[in-house]
Amino acid sequence: MLIVKGGFLIDPKGADSGVKDIIIDGDRIVNICEPDSDLVKGLMSDADCKVIDATGKMVAPGLVDCHVHFRDPGFTYKEDIETGAGAAARGGFTTVVMMGNTQPHMDNVDTIKDVLERGAQTGIRVYTCGNVTRDMAGKELVDMDALINAGAVLFTDDGKPITDASLMEKACTEAAKRGKVISLHEEDPSFITDNGINAGEVAEKLGLKGSPRDAEISMVKRDIEIAEKTGAEIVVQHISAAESVELIRDARKRGVKVHAEATPHHFTLTQDAVLKFGSLAKMNPPLRLESDRMAIIEGLKDGTIEMIATDHAPHSREEKQKDLKSAPSGITGLEISLALGIRELVETGLLTMEELIDRMSAGPAGVYGLDAGYIKEGGLADLVVFDPGEEWSFVQSASKSSNTPFLGQRLPGKISFTICKGNIVYAG
Ligand SMILES: [Zn+2]
Repeated sequence: MLIVKGGFLIDPKGADSGVKDIIIDGDRIVNICEPDSDLVKGLMSDADCKVIDATGKMVAPGLVDCHVHFRDPGFTYKEDIETGAGAAARGGFTTVVMMGNTQPHMDNVDTIKDVLERGAQTGIRVYTCGNVTRDMAGKELVDMDALINAGAVLFTDDGKPITDASLMEKACTEAAKRGKVISLHEEDPSFITDNGINAGEVAEKLGLKGSPRDAEISMVKRDIEIAEKTGAEIVVQHISAAESVELIRDARKRGVKVHAEATPHHFTLTQDAVLKFGSLAKMNPPLRLESDRMAIIEGLKDGTIEMIATDHAPHSREEKQKDLKSAPSGITGLEISLALGIRELVETGLLTMEELIDRMSAGPAGVYGLDAGYIKEGGLADLVVFDPGEEWSFVQSASKSSNTPFLGQRLPGKISFTICKGNIVYAG
């Protein structure tokens, strides 16, 4: 028996927030009581009962990140499933979905079964995508039924767009038949000379051409049309341009089943970060303008963007130390996502805490149909206990890699405990 006592429960839907005692037995929440109930007093006298004093802290559903790169198999010098899950737990995440630009790719049953078996040993809930196309080559569809049976929860070729429109249409038709969502990396490579940096003032200063916003906007436009035509459900991953947010807002009003995710870095930083942090601010799609950043926040506020996803993308120090043009894109993000959400969205008054927690738990769980993102009696005992006002220093990462511009910063929202399946998987 585990009791999380006296914390302020955050209900992502906002209805049942308040100070509560949460009683956990095994991997389930068995009771949610008003403070100081006779039930809790009685249980606390039991020697086997462990109590977490959450007084003055917030208790939210375990966070959900449907976009992480654990680099396993194939690139385990950057990250592996165990270290990735460790970084997730440290960041308050109890559910993650791994991307499939691994080696081998997540285009076959054996690899999917292997990563899920190893994910099940980590203490948190580790899910995986299946790829849309074989070898992520954009030529031939995978066997969707086989990958679903093996455990794939969504389909994506993340890292690469599906440039062939007829293949995209076929993929959408097949995914829709099976009730699965396709997640899309929306950047048309034909527009891009140097990826990872916004085409504009900053790129010019650095002598680079960069990645123009039209690379994203054109793909978002095309894929909204395909989703509308086929009835498929799609996600625009790591949205970066204001126009894309607007396209999705309009499409959703027409009933198109299109969703979007925003990364913590896209709602925190702009292209100027590249001047300060170099390759640690290089990512695909790139950081853009302040007006884009604000449009993303507006999208998060009004629910056009239902999910915050870290796109946790570990790379080795040697790789990121290459010159800006040849260094790989992407940064880590699992450990600082909640902190940046609190600092940039809640402390600024742009989102409520309930809205932030929704976009980091119930939102993504809802889009992909995962059992997560709520706190209720009989439900999963997956929780994060944190103090939004308490600062901490991000000096060391649980990830194998530390390619993030936020390393060394003081951040709000210190996490005290992450609980998954009724077990404490991180204690801060
Ligand atoms: Zn990604």
